Amino acid sequence: LQARREQLPLLPYDGGMAEQATERIALARQLRSALDQGEFELHYQPIRRVADGRVVALEALLRWRHEGRMVSPAVFVPLAEASGLIVPIGCWVLEQAARCHARLGERALGGVSIAVNVSAVQLLGDTLTSVVRQVQREYALSPGALHVELTESVVLRQPQTARARMLELREAGVSISIDDFGTGFSSMAYLRDLPLDYLKIDRSFVQGVHADERNASICRALIALAHGLGLGTIAEGVEQPEELDWLRANGCDQAQGYLLGRPAPLAEVLDAISSAGA
Ligand code: C2E
Ligand code: MG
Ligand code: MG
Ligand code: MG
Repeated sequence: LQARREQLPLLPYDGGMAEQATERIALARQLRSALDQGEFELHYQPIRRVADGRVVALEALLRWRHEGRMVSPAVFVPLAEASGLIVPIGCWVLEQAARCHARLGERALGGVSIAVNVSAVQLLGDTLTSVVRQVQREYALSPGALHVELTESVVLRQPQTARARMLELREAGVSISIDDFGTGFSSMAYLRDLPLDYLKIDRSFVQGVHADERNASICRALIALAHGLGLGTIAEGVEQPEELDWLRANGCDQAQGYLLGRPAPLAEVLDAISSAGA
């Protein structure tokens, strides 16, 4: 036993670690009531066609306003996934996204789709497609109005189930992108075999792409790979005009980032889009 104990990895003690764990547990508890308390909101970030800057989609990004501050989705989405709360929260997101699309129609922006991030728990559960169909009916959405973003890990966890769900979504007129591509276990087999429409190139590869030969190589390869497989490409996290110029010169289809519009409440985004005439 003594020997076994000595084999245990020694974690360096970090006073902040215990505090962070306690904070997480508290947040996880408070997350339970957040939906009923109306503490969630969606912000929307434009995705633009690189060739002419036209807005082709809005990505819905979840925000939690809790006790006077905004909690980052990077913190609470994993907590919501671990507790299963992401399922009811995800339903709320889909309904809001559908409602948002209905408002786009009023502004003659009916051709702009809403991209919703979907977690593994949601995709692999058995209610996603029926919820999608329900909100499509309720808000009289056209096919193509909703778009779903999945991460690599989602798809790799249970490829057969993921594939079946993705086919159902496609059947319902929902297009699908693979988010943050290149940051996880980027499997070529699933790119080939799964019903995908777009590959989103992770921000870490887009950053400084005009000046960084390594990132440029990766982006060129990803664009060629996607196009070769019949997928569109969306660059994430575009912050500098030089990055956008590079993406245009290298045939990337769509882009998103602070340079092209920050995530904001729908009314603000609509005003910005309308006043820019795109
Ligand atoms: P994501 O889907 O990859 O979303 C892109 C993230 O990059 C967003 O962070 C966005 O605000 C940020 N971003 C956009 N442009 C730029 C830029 O130019 N520079 C920089 N530095 N960042 C940029 P956010 O809103 O904090 O969301 C983080 C992640 O949380 C999302 O990553 C997504 O994985 C997850 N998430 C957000 N909303 C939802 C949701 O409704 N459901 C689920 N399951 N996950 C969500
Ligand atoms: Mg996303
Ligand atoms: Mg992303
Ligand atoms: Mg990301």
